[in-house]
Amino acid sequence: MTTVPASPGAASKTQPASVRAGSPPDGYRAWVAQAPQQPLVLERLEPGPLGPEEVEVAVEHCGLCHSDLSVLNNEWGLSQYPAVLGHEVVGRVTATGPHAKGVTVGQRVGVGWSAASCMHCRQCMSGDHHLCAQVQMTIVGHRGGFATHIRAHWAWVIPLPEKLKFADAGPLLCGGVTVFAPLAMHAAPTDRVGIIGIGGLGHMAVKFAAAYGCDVTAFTSSESKFDEARAFGAGHVVSSRDSAALGKLAGSLDLLISTVNVKLDWEALLGTLAPNGRLHVVGAVLEPIPVPAFALIMQQRSVSGSPTGSPTAIATMLDFAARHDIAPQTEHYPMGAINDAFARLASGKARYRIVLDADF
Ligand code: NAP
Ligand code: ZN
Repeated sequence: MTTVPASPGAASKTQPASVRAGSPPDGYRAWVAQAPQQPLVLERLEPGPLGPEEVEVAVEHCGLCHSDLSVLNNEWGLSQYPAVLGHEVVGRVTATGPHAKGVTVGQRVGVGWSAASCMHCRQCMSGDHHLCAQVQMTIVGHRGGFATHIRAHWAWVIPLPEKLKFADAGPLLCGGVTVFAPLAMHAAPTDRVGIIGIGGLGHMAVKFAAAYGCDVTAFTSSESKFDEARAFGAGHVVSSRDSAALGKLAGSLDLLISTVNVKLDWEALLGTLAPNGRLHVVGAVLEPIPVPAFALIMQQRSVSGSPTGSPTAIATMLDFAARHDIAPQTEHYPMGAINDAFARLASGKARYRIVLDADF
Protein backbone atom coordinates (compact mmCIF):
# COMPACT_ATOMS: atom_id res chain seq x y z
CA MET A 1 0.00 0.00 0.00
CA THR A 2 1.16 3.53 -0.72
CA THR A 3 1.46 6.11 2.03
CA VAL A 4 -0.48 9.14 0.91
CA PRO A 5 -1.24 11.43 3.86
CA ALA A 6 -4.84 10.78 4.92
CA SER A 7 -5.09 14.24 6.45
CA PRO A 8 -2.67 16.11 8.71
CA GLY A 9 -3.41 15.58 12.37
CA ALA A 10 -6.06 12.95 11.75
CA ALA A 11 -4.04 10.21 13.42
CA SER A 12 -3.32 12.24 16.56
CA LYS A 13 -7.00 13.13 17.00
CA THR A 14 -8.49 9.77 16.17
CA GLN A 15 -11.13 8.03 18.20
CA PRO A 16 -13.36 5.14 17.19
CA ALA A 17 -15.86 6.22 14.56
CA SER A 18 -19.45 6.19 15.74
CA VAL A 19 -20.56 4.51 12.54
CA ARG A 20 -18.38 2.40 10.29
CA ALA A 21 -20.98 1.16 7.86
CA GLY A 22 -19.58 0.67 4.40
CA SER A 23 -15.83 1.08 5.06
CA PRO A 24 -14.22 -1.68 2.99
CA PRO A 25 -12.05 -4.06 5.06
CA ASP A 26 -9.43 -4.22 2.30
CA GLY A 27 -8.82 -0.48 2.28
CA TYR A 28 -9.56 2.24 -0.24
CA ARG A 29 -8.59 2.20 -3.87
CA ALA A 30 -7.38 5.40 -5.49
CA TRP A 31 -5.75 6.74 -8.63
CA VAL A 32 -2.38 7.93 -7.37
CA ALA A 33 0.11 10.40 -8.88
CA GLN A 34 3.58 9.29 -7.79
CA ALA A 35 5.45 12.20 -9.40
CA PRO A 36 4.78 15.25 -11.58
CA GLN A 37 3.54 14.64 -15.12
CA GLN A 38 3.31 10.88 -14.65
CA PRO A 39 0.25 8.75 -15.49
CA LEU A 40 -1.98 8.01 -12.50
CA VAL A 41 -1.81 4.46 -11.16
CA LEU A 42 -4.55 2.52 -9.34
CA GLU A 43 -3.43 1.57 -5.82
CA ARG A 44 -4.82 0.32 -2.52
CA LEU A 45 -4.53 2.73 0.39
CA GLU A 46 -4.82 2.08 4.11
CA PRO A 47 -7.47 4.51 5.38
CA GLY A 48 -6.48 4.42 9.08
CA PRO A 49 -8.93 5.36 11.82
CA LEU A 50 -11.54 8.00 11.03
CA GLY A 51 -10.93 11.28 12.90
CA PRO A 52 -13.56 12.28 15.47
CA GLU A 53 -14.83 15.18 13.34
CA GLU A 54 -14.28 13.48 10.00
CA VAL A 55 -16.85 12.10 7.59
CA GLU A 56 -16.19 9.28 5.13
CA VAL A 57 -17.86 9.48 1.74
CA ALA A 58 -18.09 6.75 -0.91
CA VAL A 59 -17.32 8.56 -4.15
CA GLU A 60 -19.85 8.23 -6.99
CA HIS A 61 -18.69 11.02 -9.31
CA CYS A 62 -15.83 13.53 -9.30
CA GLY A 63 -15.33 16.48 -11.64
CA LEU A 64 -11.94 17.15 -13.22
CA CYS A 65 -10.88 20.77 -12.65
CA HIS A 66 -7.92 22.49 -14.29
CA SER A 67 -6.47 22.81 -10.78
CA ASP A 68 -6.16 18.98 -10.68
CA LEU A 69 -4.01 19.20 -13.80
CA SER A 70 -1.94 22.06 -12.35
CA VAL A 71 -1.35 20.12 -9.11
CA LEU A 72 -0.57 16.91 -11.03
CA ASN A 73 2.13 18.80 -12.95
CA ASN A 74 3.28 20.82 -9.91
CA GLU A 75 2.74 24.06 -11.85
CA TRP A 76 2.21 26.00 -8.61
CA GLY A 77 5.17 24.45 -6.75
CA LEU A 78 3.01 23.21 -3.85
CA SER A 79 2.15 19.63 -4.90
CA GLN A 80 2.90 16.75 -2.52
CA TYR A 81 3.47 13.25 -3.91
CA PRO A 82 2.15 10.66 -3.87
CA ALA A 83 -1.07 12.56 -4.53
CA VAL A 84 -4.70 11.58 -4.90
CA LEU A 85 -6.34 14.32 -6.98
CA GLY A 86 -10.04 15.11 -7.48
CA HIS A 87 -11.90 17.84 -5.57
CA GLU A 88 -15.37 18.03 -7.11
CA VAL A 89 -16.81 15.04 -5.31
CA VAL A 90 -20.34 13.72 -5.15
CA GLY A 91 -21.06 10.62 -3.08
CA ARG A 92 -22.83 9.11 -0.11
CA VAL A 93 -21.78 9.30 3.52
CA THR A 94 -20.57 5.90 4.71
CA ALA A 95 -19.25 6.78 8.18
CA THR A 96 -19.17 9.69 10.60
CA GLY A 97 -16.74 10.36 13.44
CA PRO A 98 -18.31 10.65 16.91
CA HIS A 99 -18.10 14.46 16.89
CA ALA A 100 -19.18 15.00 13.28
CA LYS A 101 -22.30 17.13 12.83
CA GLY A 102 -24.79 17.99 10.13
CA VAL A 103 -24.64 14.87 7.95
CA THR A 104 -25.87 11.30 8.35
CA VAL A 105 -24.84 7.95 6.91
CA GLY A 106 -26.42 7.39 3.50
CA GLN A 107 -26.86 11.10 2.76
CA ARG A 108 -25.87 12.49 -0.66
CA VAL A 109 -23.13 15.08 -0.18
CA GLY A 110 -20.40 16.99 -1.97
CA VAL A 111 -16.80 17.90 -1.15
CA GLY A 112 -14.89 20.64 -2.97
CA TRP A 113 -11.45 22.30 -2.95
CA SER A 114 -11.23 22.41 0.85
CA ALA A 115 -11.52 19.41 3.16
CA ALA A 116 -11.00 21.01 6.58
CA SER A 117 -10.30 24.27 8.39
CA CYS A 118 -9.34 25.01 12.00
CA MET A 119 -12.89 26.05 13.08
CA HIS A 120 -11.64 28.46 15.74
CA CYS A 121 -9.72 31.29 14.04
CA ARG A 122 -11.26 34.68 13.31
CA GLN A 123 -11.94 33.70 9.68
CA CYS A 124 -13.65 30.41 10.56
CA MET A 125 -15.65 32.06 13.35
CA SER A 126 -16.74 34.76 10.86
CA GLY A 127 -18.00 32.22 8.35
CA ASP A 128 -15.01 32.72 6.04
CA HIS A 129 -13.64 29.21 6.55
CA HIS A 130 -12.12 29.26 3.06
CA LEU A 131 -9.80 32.07 4.24
CA CYS A 132 -8.57 30.11 7.30
CA ALA A 133 -4.75 30.13 7.41
CA GLN A 134 -4.86 26.38 8.11
CA VAL A 135 -7.43 25.47 5.49
CA GLN A 136 -6.70 21.94 4.24
CA MET A 137 -6.71 21.68 0.46
CA THR A 138 -8.44 18.47 -0.60
CA ILE A 139 -5.68 17.42 -3.03
CA VAL A 140 -2.48 18.72 -1.42
CA GLY A 141 -1.31 16.69 1.58
CA HIS A 142 -4.74 15.05 1.69
CA ARG A 143 -6.40 12.35 -0.37
CA GLY A 144 -8.84 13.63 -2.98
CA GLY A 145 -11.81 12.15 -4.78
CA PHE A 146 -10.37 10.03 -7.60
CA ALA A 147 -10.80 7.11 -5.24
CA THR A 148 -13.41 4.79 -3.79
CA HIS A 149 -13.68 7.04 -0.71
CA ILE A 150 -12.78 10.48 0.51
CA ARG A 151 -12.72 11.95 4.00
CA ALA A 152 -13.32 15.52 5.09
CA HIS A 153 -14.17 17.55 8.17
CA TRP A 154 -17.95 17.58 8.65
CA ALA A 155 -18.18 21.35 8.03
CA TRP A 156 -16.85 20.85 4.50
CA VAL A 157 -19.15 17.93 3.64
CA ILE A 158 -22.06 19.73 2.04
CA PRO A 159 -25.52 18.11 1.73
CA LEU A 160 -26.81 18.27 -1.86
CA PRO A 161 -30.32 19.54 -2.63
CA GLU A 162 -32.49 16.64 -3.83
CA LYS A 163 -33.41 18.52 -7.01
CA LEU A 164 -29.86 18.51 -8.40
CA LYS A 165 -28.85 15.94 -10.98
CA PHE A 166 -26.21 14.27 -8.83
CA ALA A 167 -24.11 12.85 -11.67
CA ASP A 168 -23.42 16.37 -12.93
CA ALA A 169 -23.33 18.22 -9.60
CA GLY A 170 -19.63 17.62 -8.82
CA PRO A 171 -18.28 20.58 -10.83
CA LEU A 172 -20.46 22.94 -8.79
CA LEU A 173 -18.46 22.08 -5.65
CA CYS A 174 -15.28 23.81 -6.87
CA GLY A 175 -15.75 25.48 -10.25
CA GLY A 176 -19.34 26.48 -9.50
CA VAL A 177 -18.75 28.19 -6.17
CA THR A 178 -15.56 29.83 -7.43
CA VAL A 179 -17.54 31.84 -9.99
CA PHE A 180 -20.74 32.15 -7.95
CA ALA A 181 -18.95 33.75 -4.97
CA PRO A 182 -17.72 36.86 -6.85
CA LEU A 183 -21.19 37.36 -8.34
CA ALA A 184 -22.73 37.13 -4.88
CA MET A 185 -20.09 39.49 -3.45
CA HIS A 186 -19.79 42.05 -6.22
CA ALA A 187 -22.65 41.92 -8.78
CA ALA A 188 -26.13 43.42 -8.88
CA PRO A 189 -28.75 41.90 -11.21
CA THR A 190 -28.70 45.16 -13.20
CA ASP A 191 -24.95 44.87 -13.87
CA ARG A 192 -23.15 44.25 -17.11
CA VAL A 193 -20.87 41.31 -16.36
CA GLY A 194 -18.05 39.93 -18.49
CA ILE A 195 -16.75 36.37 -18.17
CA ILE A 196 -13.25 35.77 -19.54
CA GLY A 197 -12.53 32.18 -20.66
CA ILE A 198 -15.43 29.85 -21.41
CA GLY A 199 -14.08 26.61 -19.99
CA GLY A 200 -15.17 24.63 -16.94
CA LEU A 201 -15.49 27.66 -14.65
CA GLY A 202 -16.39 30.18 -17.33
CA HIS A 203 -19.38 28.36 -18.78
CA MET A 204 -20.88 27.95 -15.29
CA ALA A 205 -20.18 31.65 -14.64
CA VAL A 206 -22.18 32.62 -17.74
CA LYS A 207 -25.11 30.48 -16.56
CA PHE A 208 -25.02 31.89 -13.02
CA ALA A 209 -24.70 35.51 -14.14
CA ALA A 210 -27.52 35.15 -16.67
CA ALA A 211 -29.80 33.50 -14.09
CA TYR A 212 -28.95 36.33 -11.66
CA GLY A 213 -30.30 38.77 -14.24
CA CYS A 214 -27.05 40.32 -15.43
CA ASP A 215 -26.32 41.35 -19.00
CA VAL A 216 -23.53 38.89 -19.79
CA THR A 217 -20.62 39.25 -22.22
CA ALA A 218 -18.58 36.08 -22.82
CA PHE A 219 -14.92 36.53 -23.78
CA THR A 220 -13.51 33.46 -25.48
CA SER A 221 -10.47 32.69 -27.61
CA SER A 222 -12.36 29.83 -29.30
CA GLU A 223 -14.67 30.82 -32.13
CA SER A 224 -16.24 27.37 -31.92
CA LYS A 225 -17.68 28.35 -28.50
CA PHE A 226 -19.50 31.51 -29.66
CA ASP A 227 -22.90 29.87 -30.22
CA GLU A 228 -22.75 27.72 -27.11
CA ALA A 229 -21.80 30.74 -24.98
CA ARG A 230 -24.99 32.41 -26.20
CA ALA A 231 -26.94 29.26 -25.39
CA PHE A 232 -25.51 29.38 -21.84
CA GLY A 233 -27.01 32.87 -21.49
CA ALA A 234 -24.46 35.34 -22.86
CA GLY A 235 -26.08 38.27 -24.63
CA HIS A 236 -22.77 39.14 -26.31
CA VAL A 237 -19.67 37.14 -27.27
CA VAL A 238 -16.30 38.72 -27.99
CA SER A 239 -12.90 37.26 -28.86
CA SER A 240 -10.64 37.49 -25.80
CA ARG A 241 -7.64 37.83 -28.13
CA ASP A 242 -9.03 40.66 -30.29
CA SER A 243 -7.70 43.87 -28.73
CA ALA A 244 -9.63 46.04 -31.20
CA ALA A 245 -12.91 44.35 -30.23
CA LEU A 246 -12.04 44.81 -26.56
CA GLY A 247 -11.36 48.49 -27.24
CA LYS A 248 -14.91 48.93 -28.52
CA LEU A 249 -16.23 47.87 -25.10
CA ALA A 250 -14.24 50.59 -23.29
CA GLY A 251 -15.88 51.82 -20.08
CA SER A 252 -18.90 49.51 -20.29
CA LEU A 253 -18.65 46.56 -17.87
CA ASP A 254 -19.38 46.63 -14.14
CA LEU A 255 -17.71 43.33 -13.29
CA LEU A 256 -15.23 41.17 -15.19
CA ILE A 257 -14.48 37.67 -13.88
CA SER A 258 -11.33 36.13 -15.32
CA THR A 259 -11.18 32.34 -15.37
CA VAL A 260 -8.17 31.97 -17.68
CA ASN A 261 -4.71 30.78 -16.66
CA VAL A 262 -2.94 32.52 -19.54
CA LYS A 263 -1.68 35.99 -20.32
CA LEU A 264 -4.20 38.22 -22.15
CA ASP A 265 -4.31 41.89 -23.14
CA TRP A 266 -4.98 42.95 -19.54
CA GLU A 267 -4.71 46.64 -20.34
CA ALA A 268 -7.53 46.40 -22.90
CA LEU A 269 -9.58 44.22 -20.54
CA LEU A 270 -9.18 46.71 -17.65
CA GLY A 271 -10.23 49.39 -20.13
CA THR A 272 -13.59 47.65 -20.65
CA LEU A 273 -14.51 48.42 -17.02
CA ALA A 274 -17.03 51.18 -16.31
CA PRO A 275 -16.47 53.67 -13.48
CA ASN A 276 -16.54 51.71 -10.20
CA GLY A 277 -15.96 48.55 -12.26
CA ARG A 278 -14.03 45.56 -10.94
CA LEU A 279 -11.75 42.93 -12.45
CA HIS A 280 -12.07 39.80 -10.31
CA VAL A 281 -9.46 37.11 -10.89
CA VAL A 282 -10.14 33.44 -10.15
CA GLY A 283 -8.08 31.87 -12.97
CA ALA A 284 -4.60 30.93 -11.73
CA VAL A 285 -2.48 32.84 -14.26
CA LEU A 286 1.15 32.64 -13.20
CA GLU A 287 2.44 35.77 -14.97
CA PRO A 288 1.69 38.96 -12.99
CA ILE A 289 -1.26 41.00 -14.26
CA PRO A 290 -0.05 44.56 -14.91
CA VAL A 291 -2.32 47.12 -13.24
CA PRO A 292 -1.45 50.76 -14.07
CA ALA A 293 -2.44 53.00 -11.17
CA PHE A 294 -4.25 55.44 -13.44
CA ALA A 295 -6.42 52.69 -14.90
CA LEU A 296 -7.81 52.34 -11.35
CA ILE A 297 -7.64 55.89 -9.99
CA MET A 298 -9.48 57.96 -12.54
CA GLN A 299 -12.45 55.60 -12.86
CA GLN A 300 -12.39 54.36 -9.24
CA ARG A 301 -11.94 50.78 -10.42
CA SER A 302 -10.82 47.71 -8.41
CA VAL A 303 -8.94 44.48 -8.95
CA SER A 304 -9.64 41.51 -6.67
CA GLY A 305 -9.53 37.73 -6.41
CA SER A 306 -10.94 34.86 -4.36
CA PRO A 307 -10.38 31.17 -3.56
CA THR A 308 -13.51 29.00 -4.04
CA GLY A 309 -15.92 29.81 -1.17
CA SER A 310 -17.03 29.03 2.35
CA PRO A 311 -19.27 26.07 3.23
CA THR A 312 -22.21 28.48 3.42
CA ALA A 313 -21.35 29.96 0.03
CA ILE A 314 -21.27 26.44 -1.42
CA ALA A 315 -24.65 25.58 0.11
CA THR A 316 -26.17 28.87 -1.10
CA MET A 317 -24.78 28.28 -4.60
CA LEU A 318 -26.22 24.73 -4.65
CA ASP A 319 -29.66 26.07 -3.67
CA PHE A 320 -29.44 28.72 -6.39
CA ALA A 321 -28.37 26.11 -8.97
CA ALA A 322 -31.24 23.81 -7.98
CA ARG A 323 -33.77 26.67 -8.11
CA HIS A 324 -32.61 27.87 -11.54
CA ASP A 325 -31.85 24.42 -13.03
CA ILE A 326 -28.20 25.34 -13.49
CA ALA A 327 -25.90 22.42 -14.23
CA PRO A 328 -22.53 22.23 -15.93
CA GLN A 329 -22.34 20.82 -19.44
CA THR A 330 -20.35 17.65 -18.91
CA GLU A 331 -18.45 14.84 -20.61
CA HIS A 332 -18.45 11.64 -18.53
CA TYR A 333 -15.57 9.19 -18.38
CA PRO A 334 -15.32 6.04 -16.27
CA MET A 335 -12.72 6.68 -13.56
CA GLY A 336 -10.70 3.83 -15.06
CA ALA A 337 -10.07 6.10 -18.07
CA ILE A 338 -8.70 8.86 -15.82
CA ASN A 339 -5.47 9.30 -17.80
CA ASP A 340 -7.45 9.81 -21.02
CA ALA A 341 -9.61 12.33 -19.19
CA PHE A 342 -6.55 14.32 -18.04
CA ALA A 343 -5.22 14.30 -21.61
CA ARG A 344 -8.56 15.56 -22.90
CA LEU A 345 -8.59 18.42 -20.36
CA ALA A 346 -4.99 19.33 -21.25
CA SER A 347 -5.91 19.45 -24.95
CA GLY A 348 -8.46 22.21 -24.29
CA LYS A 349 -11.13 20.23 -26.12
CA ALA A 350 -13.37 19.35 -23.16
CA ARG A 351 -16.89 20.76 -23.48
CA TYR A 352 -17.11 22.03 -20.86
CA ARG A 353 -16.36 20.01 -17.71
CA ILE A 354 -15.20 16.41 -17.47
CA VAL A 355 -16.77 14.24 -14.75
CA LEU A 356 -15.32 10.84 -13.79
CA ASP A 357 -17.78 8.17 -12.69
CA ALA A 358 -16.49 5.73 -10.05
CA ASP A 359 -16.06 2.25 -11.58
CA PHE A 360 -13.84 0.45 -9.07
P1 NAP B 1 -10.48 25.08 -18.22
O1 NAP B 1 -11.75 24.30 -18.24
O2 NAP B 1 -9.26 24.52 -18.84
O3 NAP B 1 -10.81 26.52 -18.83
C1 NAP B 1 -9.84 27.52 -18.97
C2 NAP B 1 -10.23 28.39 -20.17
O4 NAP B 1 -9.22 29.38 -20.35
C3 NAP B 1 -10.27 27.65 -21.47
O5 NAP B 1 -11.48 26.98 -21.70
C4 NAP B 1 -10.10 28.79 -22.46
O6 NAP B 1 -11.34 29.44 -22.69
C5 NAP B 1 -9.19 29.74 -21.71
N1 NAP B 1 -7.84 29.58 -22.26
C6 NAP B 1 -7.02 28.49 -22.12
N2 NAP B 1 -5.91 28.67 -22.85
C7 NAP B 1 -6.03 29.87 -23.46
C8 NAP B 1 -5.22 30.62 -24.34
N3 NAP B 1 -4.02 30.16 -24.76
N4 NAP B 1 -5.67 31.84 -24.75
C9 NAP B 1 -6.85 32.32 -24.35
N5 NAP B 1 -7.68 31.64 -23.54
C10 NAP B 1 -7.26 30.45 -23.09
O7 NAP B 1 -10.08 25.40 -16.70
P2 NAP B 1 -11.02 25.61 -15.41
O8 NAP B 1 -11.16 24.31 -14.72
O9 NAP B 1 -12.20 26.39 -15.79
O10 NAP B 1 -10.06 26.48 -14.48
C11 NAP B 1 -9.69 27.78 -14.90
C12 NAP B 1 -8.64 28.37 -13.98
O11 NAP B 1 -9.22 28.62 -12.71
C13 NAP B 1 -7.45 27.44 -13.72
O12 NAP B 1 -6.28 28.22 -13.61
C14 NAP B 1 -7.79 26.83 -12.36
O13 NAP B 1 -6.65 26.37 -11.68
C15 NAP B 1 -8.41 28.02 -11.70
N6 NAP B 1 -9.29 27.74 -10.56
C16 NAP B 1 -9.27 28.64 -9.55
C17 NAP B 1 -10.11 28.49 -8.47
C18 NAP B 1 -10.12 29.50 -7.38
O14 NAP B 1 -10.51 29.17 -6.26
N7 NAP B 1 -9.74 30.75 -7.62
C19 NAP B 1 -10.98 27.39 -8.42
C20 NAP B 1 -11.00 26.50 -9.49
C21 NAP B 1 -10.15 26.69 -10.56
P3 NAP B 1 -11.74 29.94 -24.17
O15 NAP B 1 -11.63 28.72 -25.05
O16 NAP B 1 -13.12 30.40 -23.99
O17 NAP B 1 -10.78 31.01 -24.53
ZN1 ZN C 1 -11.07 23.14 -8.77
